[in-house]
Amino acid sequence: MNNVLIGGTIATDTIETPFGKVDRVLGGSASYAAYSASFYVLPSIISVVGEDFSEEHWKLLQERKINLEGVKKEGKTFHWEGSYEFDMNEAKTLKTELNSLETFKPVVPDQYKKAEYLFLANIDPVVQLSILNQLESPKLVITDTMNFWIESNKQSVLDVIKKTNILLLNDAEARQLFETTSLVKAAKQALTLGPSAVIIKKGEHGALLFTEKSNFNAPGYPLEEIKDPTGCGDAFGGALLGYLAKTNDHSEENMRKAIIQASAIASFNAEDFSLNKLKTITQEDIDTRYNEFVELRKF
Ligand code: AMP
Repeated sequence: MNNVLIGGTIATDTIETPFGKVDRVLGGSASYAAYSASFYVLPSIISVVGEDFSEEHWKLLQERKINLEGVKKEGKTFHWEGSYEFDMNEAKTLKTELNSLETFKPVVPDQYKKAEYLFLANIDPVVQLSILNQLESPKLVITDTMNFWIESNKQSVLDVIKKTNILLLNDAEARQLFETTSLVKAAKQALTLGPSAVIIKKGEHGALLFTEKSNFNAPGYPLEEIKDPTGCGDAFGGALLGYLAKTNDHSEENMRKAIIQASAIASFNAEDFSLNKLKTITQEDIDTRYNEFVELRKF
């Protein structure tokens, strides 16, 4: 059964950090998210790639048993170029070539329409809404976005949020979207729109969870070697969705566990470019890092 669906971008990325440069490697919000979700469940992707998309990248996703029936092939693959300075919490976008994403009209295959878990990863909010509206009755919808879409189509971003259960934003996006410097105020405003939980990702400094009832503050993992944080937000969202779908428990207590699982996967992702680190990790590595997170909070 295709119970876990991820809508987002599949991209080729060109990235420069103080620790190196890579050209046209596999990226995109759906790639990172689905790869991360695949440590827990068998996810399916709704997206588009171009005729130029390489067989090697396709295989990388297939090897994790990610279902790609909902990935259209037309035109040219979405391409993003970004760079980071020594403070790697914020990417500087150098180029966004939407290419086939510009005219992408998602069609959710019939066998996915009953999916209960949906992650609307970072992509055009109009596409996010269209995917959401094609599902019969999803049980849990997690949404992420990015400054690019907040600047170009804020109204549609807000329309998606109204139909979302868990909203993910990074700190800069939360401030931008709700026009406030206070993350607490931004989260409270987001909660009034519809979501029952808002998670604000703070890069290497961890993540904050806000619900009507309480707050939770997940630590950042003290990584010694950060090579490239690209995709950490998407990896976080994919792992969060995967863990919640696998455990089928949306209680606040389990959500906190899901956030730590997601933080563990995202921290691995920052250790190398593209999916290079995620390709190498095992269940044992994830468990070990999860337990290190638990230790970090003991006093
Ligand atoms: P993150 O670092 O988690 O924000 O995600 C980085 C990934 O998002 C990269 O692999 C990019 O290909 C992809 N990306 C960059 N810009 C956009 C955009 N405007 N919409 C969707 N995905 C994007």
